[in-house]
Amino acid sequence: MLIVSACLSGSLCRWDGKSSLDPDIKRMVESGEAIVACPEVLGGLTVPRDPAEIVGGGGVEVWEGKARVVTKSGRDVTREFMAGAKKFLELARKNGATGAILKEKSPSCGLTCHPDGTFSKSYRPGPGVTAALLIGEGFKVSSQ
Ligand code: SF4
Repeated sequence: MLIVSACLSGSLCRWDGKSSLDPDIKRMVESGEAIVACPEVLGGLTVPRDPAEIVGGGGVEVWEGKARVVTKSGRDVTREFMAGAKKFLELARKNGATGAILKEKSPSCGLTCHPDGTFSKSYRPGPGVTAALLIGEGFKVSSQ
């Protein structure tokens, strides 16, 4: 069993109210090979919402207390991102998932994300908050 980023299965849960539909992922979910969840929504954030980036590092540094997640308008949403990641992990375990396929270039799900808080177009390697938690807990994590 896998857990996948909900937006990849067609769920309209992205910050801009859209999905990032991947037909192969959708098929996996429909055939019962994967469950879906959105960490940011699990953490209590709305759809749509202000886009956010990690400032001061990546997801690993967020868990170490060295970096924060901040929205474009300056709201600190670190607590929501961490809470959503923990719920995502809990859901994965409850459903017997041992691996994850996550949406790339997201401060939650990405294996690469924006670790500089500048909302530029450049990405650097480094997992987002949820990806970092899952990797640390021994999950096999890949991007779509
Ligand atoms: S948090 Fe993950 S699942 Fe939710 S919209 Fe962003 S990339 Fe998709």
